[in-house]
Amino acid sequence: MAQADSKKDLHADQDPNKINLGIGAYRDNDGKPWILPVVKKVKQNLLTDPTLNHEYLAIDGLRTFTDASAKMILGADSRAIKEKRFLGVQQISGTGAVLKKGATVYISDPTWGNHFQIFGDAGFTVKTYKYWNPATLYYCLKTADSGSIFVLHACAHNPTGVDPTQEQWKQIAAIIKEKNHFPFFDCAYQGFASGSLDKDAWAVRYFVDAGFEIFVAQSYSKNFGIYSERCGCLTVVTSTEQQAINVRSQLCRLNRASISNPPAYGARIVNAEDNLRTMANRIIKMREETVRHLTDLKTPGNWSHITSQIGMFSYTGLTVAQVKVIKEKFHVYMTDNGRISMAGLNENNVRRFAEAVDYVVRN
Ligand code: PMP
Repeated sequence: MAQADSKKDLHADQDPNKINLGIGAYRDNDGKPWILPVVKKVKQNLLTDPTLNHEYLAIDGLRTFTDASAKMILGADSRAIKEKRFLGVQQISGTGAVLKKGATVYISDPTWGNHFQIFGDAGFTVKTYKYWNPATLYYCLKTADSGSIFVLHACAHNPTGVDPTQEQWKQIAAIIKEKNHFPFFDCAYQGFASGSLDKDAWAVRYFVDAGFEIFVAQSYSKNFGIYSERCGCLTVVTSTEQQAINVRSQLCRLNRASISNPPAYGARIVNAEDNLRTMANRIIKMREETVRHLTDLKTPGNWSHITSQIGMFSYTGLTVAQVKVIKEKFHVYMTDNGRISMAGLNENNVRRFAEAVDYVVRN
């Protein structure tokens, strides 16, 4: 409720200098949505390509796109790809509801809010595992019923912006193996954490190398900036080639029933290229600028988490009361838990944002 009110207030607020840090969409340095140059170029090519039409795609989508998606997350030289132990099925972006109903799914606490609805509506029992503290995360993994599904954010965890270290991922993988849990990766920000697609795929590739069967829900909303095109892929790694064939056929049945046929436009765009570094670098710069201004203002507290966190979001640590004041007094909008979208900051508003934070922290 509080969240809905906050959105209403944001839209009603006429202040020309209001700052919206609640959105999960990239903004350029002028605070405007950005169409990636590569997307623009591909769109032009698509317009004039005489071979394209609006026929239905296959039920599992555009094969060149799903194969490219598998390569992007698993690595072009992945053994699973060489051994044909993988498959990709196009999805309506984000996390598709595609696993066996009745199973228990563990999602992180905190997580992207929609995980509750997606898995709940799909008939799963949804439970949470504690995320912030590695010790309690391991404890939750160990005490969950064997064979549970664990939803893991592949990189750039939303909302905390804190990813496990490689050592911690190894520990997580070891417990998942011991408990026979099933790892389901949600990968909505590949390229956003480090600017490198390969680095951001480290955890997924580690699990595949360690012999796991995995599901990876890949979204292209953020890293290609094509939010409304609903472009995603469910990539699955199996143990054998035959299993991959069987799973593809099952997923086609599910796709048929849930979406009938996947949309082509976004898949054709992604098929063409990638262009992520600009976005990742601007976000990293805004993290540095925020801390620089807070240091300059001698704002009480330690703000190093802003630069150590990664991805699009940052947990400021501001309280609900401070979030309220910053909204009412400074027209700065963020979610009630103090999460800000770094993409909402730019060279023109980052100082004002720091000053607003400085005020609420001191008062
Ligand atoms: N997973 C996570 C963790 C996300 O943050 C998001 C987008 N906010 C998604 C999945 C899916 O977004 P979309 O459906 O637009 O691809």
